Amino acid sequence: MNIRLKFKQLFTKKLFQPHCLLCASHNGGELGFCEACLQDLPWNIAPQCPQCSLLSNGLTCGSCLNAPPHFDATQALFTYDFPVDSLLQHYKYRDMLHLANTFASLLIAKKLASHEQVKKIDLIIPMPMHPSRLQARGFNQALELARIIAKNMQLQLDYSSCQRTKLTPPQASLPLKERIKNIQGVFNCSQDLKGLSIALVDDVMTTGASLNELAKTLKKAGAAHVECWVIARTLPK
Ligand SMILES: [Zn+2]
Ligand SMILES: [Zn+2]
Repeated sequence: MNIRLKFKQLFTKKLFQPHCLLCASHNGGELGFCEACLQDLPWNIAPQCPQCSLLSNGLTCGSCLNAPPHFDATQALFTYDFPVDSLLQHYKYRDMLHLANTFASLLIAKKLASHEQVKKIDLIIPMPMHPSRLQARGFNQALELARIIAKNMQLQLDYSSCQRTKLTPPQASLPLKERIKNIQGVFNCSQDLKGLSIALVDDVMTTGASLNELAKTLKKAGAAHVECWVIARTLPK
């Protein structure tokens, strides 16, 4: 090959290779992280409760046995720790929208591809956002994730049967007890979901109060199985 052409190609490749979002090395790859940074992310891989994804010996935890949530299972990609917590904040507030693709791709590769139940899922429903909040923020971070997951896994996306009909203070601003009260009765489902298996998609599961209330609404509408697919799970400190 012409040496000048070869040099030009090498130079261009180096110059336009995406940076790693975390260490700024030139090895960002398709997902935005270099191999080393990718390995260091807080993967949610410790033995956990299959229903709520909190640490356990791999069996259903005491709190799910005592007061079973309305959802039947949870798949959480990361624990909500550094740097995923800060990346998710950037994603949510729109400075890093391309992270939707990274997070959704990793959730599929690390959790959903090997998850047997996926074959039985009839619908993917993203955590609905109140219309006025959607207008203020301009996008629903859960819907963008759900869109990519549905497309890649060839599952049906449903973002219209379920609405958030009440505007309440953000859950993050409230302690646990208040969160449960705050979220009660805020969802409405206009569709008959009789016998369906549904996956709910959200970015972060903190206490699980919102996902639990949404699962309750869907079960009331007839859903037979509801599970949560989230990017990160907050573990109690
Ligand atoms: Zn890196
Ligand atoms: Zn549990």
